[in-house]
Amino acid sequence: MSETFSVIARDGAARAGVLRTAHGEVPTPAFMPVGTKGTVKSVDPDELRALGAGIVLGNAYHLHFRPGEELIAELGGLHAFMGWDGPILTDSGGFQVFSLRDTLLEVDDDGVTFRSVYDGAPERFTPELAARVQERLGSDVAMCLDICLPAGTDRSELEEAVRRTTLWAQQQRDLPRAPGQLRFAITQGGLDGELRRRSSEELVALGFDGYAIGGLSVGEHREPMFDATTEAAAFLPEEKPRYFMGIGDPEGVLEVISRGVDMFDCVLPTRTARTGSALTREGRLNLRNARFARDQRPLEEGCPCPACTRFSRAYVRHLVNQQEILGLRLLSLHNLRFLLDIVAAARRAIERGEFLSWKEEALEGAKGAM
Ligand SMILES: [Zn+2]
Repeated sequence: MSETFSVIARDGAARAGVLRTAHGEVPTPAFMPVGTKGTVKSVDPDELRALGAGIVLGNAYHLHFRPGEELIAELGGLHAFMGWDGPILTDSGGFQVFSLRDTLLEVDDDGVTFRSVYDGAPERFTPELAARVQERLGSDVAMCLDICLPAGTDRSELEEAVRRTTLWAQQQRDLPRAPGQLRFAITQGGLDGELRRRSSEELVALGFDGYAIGGLSVGEHREPMFDATTEAAAFLPEEKPRYFMGIGDPEGVLEVISRGVDMFDCVLPTRTARTGSALTREGRLNLRNARFARDQRPLEEGCPCPACTRFSRAYVRHLVNQQEILGLRLLSLHNLRFLLDIVAAARRAIERGEFLSWKEEALEGAKGAM
């Protein structure tokens, strides 16, 4: 089998590459739409494909509780269950457990105990369970269970999170996988360069198929976060894919690409759609606004998405204000297309060796879309 990941072009720290998975190749940089519960909300798999999505993300935490990985395995695995035959990355559930701080009960060297958001019952995640759930789901990329802490956490707590994240990765590394499943580890350390280096070195020494930069985009200011990303990416091997967890605004995406990140995910395009807003080159449009009542233009001039090719802002505004399902669907389709197109254009700019100048130009317009 050929290599899991190849870099085909570089421009500064930015890279264009190909990730090879059991369900096909993914051109990188790649934005992964989030299908938390086995669906990218309101968008069907054929539409996702047509929008240009090459890989989608599923969520081990939610799928474990509802409907359960054994049921999904019995029905042929997550690909068959959700009708998506392309690559799927599943996160381990660590982010949900640690971001729902109120539900945390106890963390120890073997795992974490918390109350399920579904029924409040005490539950426990361990590296073994995280591996098992993702093996049963049959995803193409499985993530290690990690400890992700919010911005502003003190150093001793961050240090303990780094230690346990390594320990858990070590426990998880050689556990059974789905056929062809890749396994990525997640570096931690927040904004602390020394801890980030330690986390990266320990995980790289264990040897994984790829590495994620975790514990950023958790409430810190943007500039220190981007600086930490530059550092965090540099600690990772050139020949392995790098995944920044949880960024999806146009500026953020281009900034992490420029720092050598290959993959990222975020609920932003679909969540923004559900609030009635469209991402456009001129900024974010709140379609609830009365100024769109007679606006016959599409959401974005020239956008090839199903919303922009047929419908006016005035119509979408009407749908949104009447809480019609089609309104939220059209905005989801448009926002995903907008972001996927930016990332595809970034890839082409890297291949041409013009990424930096292209990025400045793209950000001029996108500034207001943050
Ligand atoms: Zn559109």
